[in-house]
Amino acid sequence: MPVSEKATLELMDLRRSVENGETISYEFRRKQLLLLREAILRYEDEIYDALFQDLRKSREEAYATEIGIVLMEIRHILNNLHKWTRAESVKTNLLNFPSSAKIIRDPLGVVLIIAPWNYPIQLLLMPLVGAIAGGNTVVLKPSELAPACAGLMEKMIKEIFSNNHVAIICGDGAEVIPCLMRKFRFDHVFYTGSTAVGASIYQLAAKQLTPVTLELGGKSPAIIEKDANLEVAARRIALGKFLNAGQTCVAPDYLLVHVSVREKFLEQLKKSVADFFGKNAFTSSSYGRIINSKRFDTLVEYLSAGEVVYGGNHNREELYISPTIMENICPDSTLMSDEIFGPILPVFYYECIEEAAILILKNPTPLALYVFTSNKETEEKWMSRFRFGGGCINNTVWHLSNHHLPFGGIGTSGFGAYHGKHSINRFTHAKPILKTPNWFDPSIKYPPFEGKLKWFKKMIR
Ligand code: NAD
Repeated sequence: MPVSEKATLELMDLRRSVENGETISYEFRRKQLLLLREAILRYEDEIYDALFQDLRKSREEAYATEIGIVLMEIRHILNNLHKWTRAESVKTNLLNFPSSAKIIRDPLGVVLIIAPWNYPIQLLLMPLVGAIAGGNTVVLKPSELAPACAGLMEKMIKEIFSNNHVAIICGDGAEVIPCLMRKFRFDHVFYTGSTAVGASIYQLAAKQLTPVTLELGGKSPAIIEKDANLEVAARRIALGKFLNAGQTCVAPDYLLVHVSVREKFLEQLKKSVADFFGKNAFTSSSYGRIINSKRFDTLVEYLSAGEVVYGGNHNREELYISPTIMENICPDSTLMSDEIFGPILPVFYYECIEEAAILILKNPTPLALYVFTSNKETEEKWMSRFRFGGGCINNTVWHLSNHHLPFGGIGTSGFGAYHGKHSINRFTHAKPILKTPNWFDPSIKYPPFEGKLKWFKKMIR
């Protein structure tokens, strides 16, 4: 659907709403957040149905990873909205005595939010919460690859918001987005999705000097040290990896297991997968499906890159791939250069951190890194050795759900973090203001400057 002149005119309405200051008051932002919360609760059943259609998510998984997490974010931001968005007084240095100083949190303006298909509700609405709390007007672009969710979000957003404040545009991203970004200058683009598309969004934005946030992917390793609690580690890895059939940006992409615990750990991992999804995950209501046949075919090809030691079953018609563990993988295969983004878990073995580092640094700056150990020094050694977006010690994935932590990538996994207060910072401009009274105006600050150097050196240091 090409972007029509009408759509461009509607974008001008969003711009006018910002310029008129309609979205700036605390009351307005609060009302928008309450409207969103109320709509999510009202649409709860329809959201479950749409997520089941697109990804066969269970209601429980849908609540925990899509609906509940957004409700939690709204509640956290509402509780702190006034404190986080009001002007903040800061100290003034000697040079500027007796001025006072403050930081005003200004909306960025018109923000474009582009979401992917894997958590099609959460990843569309979480940034929206931050953007409206920041006083912006917003254009939402859901992923066409999760059509039931995109259609439902279009209906919900149009019902609750005036399209002068929050608009939604659906359709094929490759067609819609470049056209939109060429015709209209957004004040910020917040993109979640693959690194390749992220790079093209970045280029489009650069032409108009539009700042961007890129929430991308990468190959996130999980490390199991010899002193890890293997039973707990196996459970937490199995959950993080096979949730949403592996289609989670922060899922452990591959494992590095200390060679001394190889057999014991693998045994525990297989047991955890069987405990979670039964002998045949196809019949488990807790196990999802691959988004489409294109992704299915790519994932099935990965199975030939090594030895399948658990699972490996698949059914194209049903878009089903069972939870799969692989060993003896060629480190140069596409399985180890692409982000897997599916229920296939390659396992490698290492003896020392530097041996593991060779594999990790082949895909540097992952979105997440996880380490399992009972030793504080070991934990610090792994945490400080690599650069990565964020991570967990003795856990996987859950750091994303703590709204006190910033969430985002580094390097090729993206830049700019959000969630909680970090979302307010992301979607506002920190405008610094200095206020100087008139009663004190020493001549030392004005020309002629001859002979004043020694005073400048006392005041400016
Ligand atoms: P996707 O194909 O749904 O694309 C994301 C968005 O980009 C969609 O709205 C789509 O319409 C749009 N798009 C697609 N092609 C485009 C183009 N050529 N030009 C402009 N826009 C285009 O999703 P995806 O990219 O397959 O998502 C999977 C990737 O996203 C994985 O790499 C995953 O790790 C990453 N991801 C990251 C996070 C995070 O928070 N960092 C979260 C989820 C997914």
